[in-house]
Amino acid sequence: TQCPPVDLVGLVGDSVEMVSVQAAPREISVTLDVPAHPLPVRGEPGDLERVASNLVGNAVKYSPDGAAVRVTLTEEPDGPAGPHVVLAVADDGIGISAADQERLFEEFFRSEAPEAVQQPGTGLGLAIVKRVVDRHRGTITVSSAPGEGSTFTVRLPRADA
Ligand code: ATP
Ligand code: MG
Repeated sequence: TQCPPVDLVGLVGDSVEMVSVQAAPREISVTLDVPAHPLPVRGEPGDLERVASNLVGNAVKYSPDGAAVRVTLTEEPDGPAGPHVVLAVADDGIGISAADQERLFEEFFRSEAPEAVQQPGTGLGLAIVKRVVDRHRGTITVSSAPGEGSTFTVRLPRADA
């Protein structure tokens, strides 16, 4: 059975709005850059919203006060696997070591880096994100270095036609 299409532009906008409530008192700005038209994907709206809010929530949590978080949604040109929607969440926060990047999506994994352990958490957010992305036939990648911020990129198949 196929899920009905859901517009990622609206859904990601809602997630950013929710996380902005936690970001505001720390003067962290969360900017949202999306196209002026809908980007439909097939999926569970609640699960997809959890993907966006976990990634944006982490970006805020692991950034210093006053930092900027950038959220973008773009369309990927048709490849062999068909058209995709790309969600990118970029921060200028503490960053993630290469060794930690390999374990990021494991259940209960939390970095032992001193700047990371200061923040509370269960280590389940990214495991849930990965499971939802897999179930939607998508991919997630991370680009990061300690002290240089992180960018998480999620690709999901577009639902047109
Ligand atoms: P939870 O999300 O369950 O409240 P958590 O944030 O610790 O807890 P995850 O979201 O799964 O768990 O993230 C796992 C670990 O990856 C974090 O503990 C943190 O060390 C690291 N991490 C995740 N996102 C970022 C980020 N944007 N910048 C730096 N480190 C990150
Ligand atoms: Mg988290």
